[in-house]
Amino acid sequence: MNEPKKKFYVTTPIYYVNDVPHIGHAYTTIAADVVSRYKRLDGYEVFFLTGTDEHGQKVHQAAQQNGVDPQTHVDKLHQRFKDLWVRLNISNSDFIRTTEARHTQVVQEILQSLFDKKEIYKDSYEGWYCTPDERFWTEKDVVNGNCPECGRPVEKIKEYNYFFKMGQYGEWLARHVRENESFIQPVSRRNEVLGFLDKPLGDLCISRPKERLPWGVSLPFDDDYVAYVWFDALINYISVHGQPGQVRDCGFWPCDHHLVGKDILTTHAVYWSCMLKAMDLPPPKNIFAHGWWTVNGQKMSKSLFNVVEPNLLADQFGVDVIRYFLLREVPFGLDGDFSHKALIGRNNSDLANNLGNLLNRTLNMVEKYQEGKILEPSASAPEDQALADKASETVQAVAALYDQLAYNKILAKIWELVDQCNQYINNMGPWNLAKSEEGQTRLTRVLYNSCEALRVIAVLIYPFMPESAEKINQQLGADFTIEEQGLRSIREWGFLPAGLQTRPGPQLFPRIEEEEEKKIMEQANAPSAPAQAEDENKTEPVAEQIEFDDFTKVDLRTGKILEAEKIKKSKKLIKLKVDIGCETRQVVAGIAAGYEPEQLVGRTVILVANLKPAKLMGVESQGMILAGSEGDKIILAGFDHELNPGVRVK
Ligand SMILES: [Zn+2]
Repeated sequence: MNEPKKKFYVTTPIYYVNDVPHIGHAYTTIAADVVSRYKRLDGYEVFFLTGTDEHGQKVHQAAQQNGVDPQTHVDKLHQRFKDLWVRLNISNSDFIRTTEARHTQVVQEILQSLFDKKEIYKDSYEGWYCTPDERFWTEKDVVNGNCPECGRPVEKIKEYNYFFKMGQYGEWLARHVRENESFIQPVSRRNEVLGFLDKPLGDLCISRPKERLPWGVSLPFDDDYVAYVWFDALINYISVHGQPGQVRDCGFWPCDHHLVGKDILTTHAVYWSCMLKAMDLPPPKNIFAHGWWTVNGQKMSKSLFNVVEPNLLADQFGVDVIRYFLLREVPFGLDGDFSHKALIGRNNSDLANNLGNLLNRTLNMVEKYQEGKILEPSASAPEDQALADKASETVQAVAALYDQLAYNKILAKIWELVDQCNQYINNMGPWNLAKSEEGQTRLTRVLYNSCEALRVIAVLIYPFMPESAEKINQQLGADFTIEEQGLRSIREWGFLPAGLQTRPGPQLFPRIEEEEEKKIMEQANAPSAPAQAEDENKTEPVAEQIEFDDFTKVDLRTGKILEAEKIKKSKKLIKLKVDIGCETRQVVAGIAAGYEPEQLVGRTVILVANLKPAKLMGVESQGMILAGSEGDKIILAGFDHELNPGVRVK
């Protein structure tokens, strides 16, 4: 009889549907994907959940601004996440949306049962409310009448609301955190939660009056209210398996890992654990809070976002290189910095020079000395055993590191094996062995071992780089996939059958040469063109106030476009010659999505004349012309009567 499969459950947060997917989202989701793929190789039945959080004030507002109903709005927006996960080769088992009936029904059942059990009560509440953040602040939180989090004005609100008796679970939770070291990781975050639990835990307001916020899950016992968005959202982790009774029996609860950003650790560690306690469900086994990404040392902003957009990165470097880089570069749990330079460095050294080179030289030698065939190997010598031992040690070490989600250490460990195999080939010198008959017998072992090491490496890197791993496997001539081989195939040396005909293919990880690197860096450093359709559904809040003097520093001039031509290789950029009266400027503008060059000649535009020159795609731009963009549309700013070139615009 077959034993039932062991089960493994991992989740990402459900992402806020209004957000534009960025490398932070990609990072968490790739991390969940890697551990899922590894556990599948290890014979587990894996449930890997991701999805979107689709309720709340901001969704409602954004829909209103776009003149659509909220459901239409989220139906459209959530697709960006789904598409990105397909692009990044994410193997999620399900994608849950909080507006789906399968979710909202469970939320309502849970609310009703907690209400029946007197875990929820009604009370009046008075506080300072920040509408954009959807949260109340106490008197002492508020800074000069403004929200301490976003700095926008708060208003005093008194209203009746429903509360979850969270306070009664404070002591239990503190004990649980203290007694279970791996419940919250990393340690620094665990200490933060313990610090938070030092103070008595209050009850949690879990409702919002519909008159203020109509977009949410209605409370089943009071139709004038919707559930607080977190109370609704957190339940996604179980609603995907059904009601609490079904969750208890599904085999996936308690969840093995909730992966979360450090900013939402409290809601998970505290609110969610207490909610589960009230439902008589055990807390998750582990909540892992990872760090944040900066870009070139700066907080991710709209303009930086343009150059590190995950789809764009995948186009530029390939999906597997991005997956590798994000998890290799920074220890999971710490903050990381993204830079194109570091990414290119990793590609060239770890991937092209080490692993790529190992594959190429091995297959070349099999081709040259054995007509592309992996031959029955001769007996093992002690120096062969050292390589086999290293492989088995690596397999064990990697297994232990997965328990800590120490992705960067796992990869470092695998690369030790890559290095050792390269060293082994250097020491054995196949090129010398090939010269004698005796040597040729020995050579069968050396080449077999190199191929077997490559197969072990392919299985080990598969969770991180599934496509590349499969390609290595195919180039070795295997007629079985890596998933079919599984982890058990690398627990003992020698699974690779002799007699395979290798199939060398194109370079797996081409080096990014200097010329190309220069181009990538230029693009990455160029100021973003005005025509980035990054989030057509968001109207930005007004920026910080400036003095009149600040404004007059900007020298705006009328300019007449004399020439216009598309910049080759760019979909967005047009090179213009613009007459601004006193001189002629060359300007590169990101307006090709809205205008054909021939439409532009003769037009009068507004130019920022004293902007420092910058290079875009290698072409110098001496100024910037003003345009507005909405979605994919770009409209140049202009005048309703003709003006001469060089007139100052104020
Ligand atoms: Zn605020």
